[in-house]
Amino acid sequence: MATPAKGNSASSHALLSIVIPCFNEEEVIGETLCRLRAFCAELHNLDVELIFVDDGSRDRTRLLLKGFAAEDPQIKLVCFARNFGHQIAVTAGIDAARGDAVVLIDADLQDPPEVILEMVRKWREGYDVVYGTRTERPGESRFKLATARGFYRLLNRLSDVPIPLDTGDFRLMSRKVVTTLQAMPERDRFVRGMVSWVGFNQIALPYRRAERFAGESKYPLRKMIRFATDGILSFSSKPLQLSVAMGMTCASIALAGILYALILRLFTDIWVEGWTALMIAVLFIGGVQLISVGILGEYVGRIYNEIKGRPLYVVNEYIGFREEGPATSR
Ligand code: UDP
Ligand code: MG
Repeated sequence: MATPAKGNSASSHALLSIVIPCFNEEEVIGETLCRLRAFCAELHNLDVELIFVDDGSRDRTRLLLKGFAAEDPQIKLVCFARNFGHQIAVTAGIDAARGDAVVLIDADLQDPPEVILEMVRKWREGYDVVYGTRTERPGESRFKLATARGFYRLLNRLSDVPIPLDTGDFRLMSRKVVTTLQAMPERDRFVRGMVSWVGFNQIALPYRRAERFAGESKYPLRKMIRFATDGILSFSSKPLQLSVAMGMTCASIALAGILYALILRLFTDIWVEGWTALMIAVLFIGGVQLISVGILGEYVGRIYNEIKGRPLYVVNEYIGFREEGPATSR
């Protein structure tokens, strides 16, 4: 379990941990570090540790990061044994952080580091979570904007806890929140939802999201779908109720059909005939059953995943953590 220790024993300043997940970001990582350093210079009465999580990059990202870490004691590095995905990388960063507050930020400079100053101000006013809400998202495809918009609204309707709209992982969290997150073992992680679930004093901070500095998105459609299903299935059991509703609807339609056929047969000289109606009914009910089994299967698959109890991620090496090591690991 985490001990809320100060990172720098020589200084009595509070410590701010900044967690940066990186996957194949060789084109941006140098610039990101420059911007973060410039921003750190403006911070007063606050020490900073920069925790880069290399999520199994296949380009020069890891090499570059190791170079940076060798020169700068502020930089810490968690290197994964393979690509585990953005949400797991963020989790590993949170686990390793020793800060009194932890900030999550993307490596591609879409979240401007300068906004963190305002987040810190709000944290000092007593807020436990300051989450960035995107007012504008230039440079994203229409498809991404529309699906993201639809997704956050759907998620909010389905979820049992309110999850703020148009909000990514760019946020500051106090030690209280981080300690709670470090103790949450679930595997299909949807970090922004988990932070909402934790509660405490949360506030939105609107900001303008920038374009990606260089390179391309590391979220192909496949990862986006996985991310969206994780969000919905981890925060709602309403899809299961949906299959009940579909079953009820089918049964009602079937009942109406039976009554209709009976009435015709008993009170008139005509009757319902033909196999078309039969086929339609069979296919319809078959379809609904398969959908329901599929929904059930998704939940069962996730239970199986939990029950295996494998570690959430495998770390190849921790670099720059010195003798005290990462705050926690799994
Ligand atoms: N990322 C990661 N692992 C992955 C995919 C992405 O660590 O498997 C990181 C990536 O390096 C970036 C952040 O997650 O820092 C957000 O990814 P990206 O900018 O590609 O997503 P988008 O902004 O396009 O949604
Ligand atoms: Mg991005």
